[in-house]
Amino acid sequence: MSLPYAIATLGSHSALQILKGAHDEGFKTLAIANRPMEPLYRSFGFVDEVLGVERYADFPSLIGELEQRKVIIIPHGSFVAYLSLEDHKRMRIPYFGNKAVLDWEASRELQREWLTRANLTLPRQFRSGAEIDRPVIVKLYGAHGGKGYMFIRDAADFEARATRLNEAYVIQEYVIGVPLYIHYFYSPLEDRLEILSMDRRYETNVDSLGRIPAAAQEGMDVSPSYVVVGNQPVSLRESMLAEAYRMGDDVVRVSREICGPKGLFGAFCIETIITPDMQFYVMEISARIVAGTNLFIDGSPYSYLYYSEPMSTGRRIARELKNAMLADKLSLVLDDSSKL
Ligand code: AMP
Ligand code: AMP
Repeated sequence: MSLPYAIATLGSHSALQILKGAHDEGFKTLAIANRPMEPLYRSFGFVDEVLGVERYADFPSLIGELEQRKVIIIPHGSFVAYLSLEDHKRMRIPYFGNKAVLDWEASRELQREWLTRANLTLPRQFRSGAEIDRPVIVKLYGAHGGKGYMFIRDAADFEARATRLNEAYVIQEYVIGVPLYIHYFYSPLEDRLEILSMDRRYETNVDSLGRIPAAAQEGMDVSPSYVVVGNQPVSLRESMLAEAYRMGDDVVRVSREICGPKGLFGAFCIETIITPDMQFYVMEISARIVAGTNLFIDGSPYSYLYYSEPMSTGRRIARELKNAMLADKLSLVLDDSSKL
C-alpha cells in the first residue's frame, strides 16, 4: 500500500527511526539534510528522497516548497534546537503534534506549573541564595547542550561564588538518584496512553567522573557537564510502572486544560531522577519523540507487550497517521495550523 503523503523530517536526532517507521507503514519518506549528513541518509533504502540544505537553520527557506507538496512533518529535538517558536508557528505544513504545547514547554515557569498541576514531584526551587539549605544545581537560563550549570553546597558557598553569575538563573535542589527517561505515546484515535520504552543517557563528562577516585579529584578543577553522546536501555522495576503510567496520564489530562482540547498527543518523554525512597523527581518534559527511543528501532520489551511486532516510537507515529487517514480523521492528529 502506498499512502498519499510523504513523511518528512530534519536529518538528525531520530530521523532514521522516524523514516524507517514511516516506510514500514507505507509512506514515502523525505529527509532534509545538511551536506555532511546527506550521504548517510542516501545510503538507506527506506529514505526515498533527500533535500539538501547548507545549514539546518536554513530550513525555513524550504517551507514554501514543502507546503506545495503532500508532506507531513514529524518534529524531533533538532527542530527545537534549530527553529524558533515563531518559525514553528508560521509553518503551515501538516505537522504531527499540537504547537500550543510548545509555549508551555519552552518556559521553565509554565512547564513547572503544568507538571505540578499533574501532581508530579519537582525538585524544590529556591528564590534566593540565602534560602539554600541543601546542595543545589544552579541552571543558567541560557544553558543548553548540557553545559552551563553550577553545583553549590550551601548558602555560604553560593555567596562566595554567585559573583560569577551574570545572567538569569534558577536555583534547584540537587536530587541524588538515578536518571530515567520514560518514553510515552498518547493516541487520540484510541484514547490510550502507552509506555513504549525507557532509557538513560550517556553523558560526557559526568558519566566518567566516577572513574577517578574522589580523593584524586580533590583540587582538580573539573566541573560536570551533561553533553549527551548516546543512550542505554533500561527496564523499570515492575512495581514502579504504575506510577510511571499515572504520571503520563496526568500530564496528558492537564495538557487538555492548558493548551486547547487536543492537548498533548503523540510521543513525549518525562525525564526523571529516582531517589532511594523510589520517588520520581521530574526534571523536564519533552513534548515530542526523544532520541533515547533510537535504542528501540526494532521494538522494546514494553512496545512488544502492546504490539507483537517491532514497534518503534517512529513507527508508532506513522501507524497513528495511517490509522487516522484510513478513518478520515487526519486533522485529529495534526496541529490546527496544518493546511491539508
Ligand atoms: P542534534 O541534531 O544532534 O544537534 O540534536 C538536537 C538536540 O537533541 C540537541 O539538543 C541534543 O542534545 C538532543 N539529542 C540529540 N541526540 C540525543 C540523544 N541520543 N539523546 C538525548 N538527546 C539527544
Ligand atoms: P536540564 O538542563 O534541566 O535538562 O538538566 C541537564 C541534566 O542535569 C539532566 O539530564 C539531569 O541529569 C541533571 N539535572 C538537572 N536538574 C537536576 C537536579 N535538580 N538534580 C539532579 N540532577 C539534575
